[in-house]
Amino acid sequence: ETTANQIAAGEVVERPASVVKELVENSLDAGASTISVEIEQGGLTRIVVRDNGCGMDEEDAQLALLRHATSKIRGPADLSRITTLGFRGEALPSIAAVSKLTLKTRTATADRGTFMEVEGGKVINSGPAALAPGTIVTVENLFYNTPARKKYMKSPGTEGGVVGDYVFRLALARPEVAMRFTHNRRQVFASPGTGKLLDVIASFYGSELAREMLPVEENSGDWLLIRGYTGRPTLHRSNRRQVTVLINGRYVYSPLVTMAVCEAYHTLLPAGRYPVAVISLSVAPELLDVNVHPAKLEVRLAREREVSEAVTRAVRKALVGNRL
Ligand code: ADP
Ligand code: MG
Repeated sequence: ETTANQIAAGEVVERPASVVKELVENSLDAGASTISVEIEQGGLTRIVVRDNGCGMDEEDAQLALLRHATSKIRGPADLSRITTLGFRGEALPSIAAVSKLTLKTRTATADRGTFMEVEGGKVINSGPAALAPGTIVTVENLFYNTPARKKYMKSPGTEGGVVGDYVFRLALARPEVAMRFTHNRRQVFASPGTGKLLDVIASFYGSELAREMLPVEENSGDWLLIRGYTGRPTLHRSNRRQVTVLINGRYVYSPLVTMAVCEAYHTLLPAGRYPVAVISLSVAPELLDVNVHPAKLEVRLAREREVSEAVTRAVRKALVGNRL
């Protein structure tokens, strides 16, 4: 069991950012409206994720730390229409196998909460806990028992930067949720939870940059909806990663959509420069396969060509509509 968890951890838990991603996705699945992420030393010494979501009762808290104990899938049929972000029931036990993890949680109706402390996959302490309804997960000493993995970590500054990028993209995926990110006790950004994508963009990049963003809006039949913001051509970066792609409320890695966005800027940007853009697609769930990669960052889309063409068209329309 512990070995299986360590193997799974190798796939799910690559670095502090993957821990944060899994924990924040759990908070989102729990219906939280505010989520705070605090890390120390790039997340290598400490990661704390707090939410005001549905919480767990004592029994569910114990179950949550077992492998494949997901509350989100009941049978194979559910796999083809996944609406939650998590569904493998692997994240918590995998993280707990390679760190010291403390879970504190309380449901809205319970008069007290419960806590469990797990080290290297073994429960070392548990009992009642005092906290507001919601969940607090603390992960300390990540990879303390897997030195080979730990050796591959970059500097705390770099790891913390990757965590910040992740939290920002998760905040973009859910503009209605207020998300706060703190590194070494310094607040890096805080999205206001207004539901407006542009407010999230402003909270991270600053309001000056947000003013340079043009709205993207396009409906392709009844199966594809494209929304977002794309930068004026005067606003560009040397890094392709400034194009953020969201599909069905999920932050994904999609070279297809990224290329389609860049294609719209063809001849508008100098060589080696990329636009700043946040593009959010809504597709019929059966057209999206999220079960491709354990970290769930890669997805497979049906009707790729049509999607790609529609995205380029939508971005071009945003640029032209603003006489550029
Ligand atoms: P998955 O998200 O794939 O179901 P996880 O290992 O990430 O698996 O979590 C296991 C279970 O623990 C979830 O299905 C959920 O029931 C519960 N859980 C985890 N985090 C939270 C949270 N922040 N709030 C409420 N429940 C949670
Ligand atoms: Mg999960």
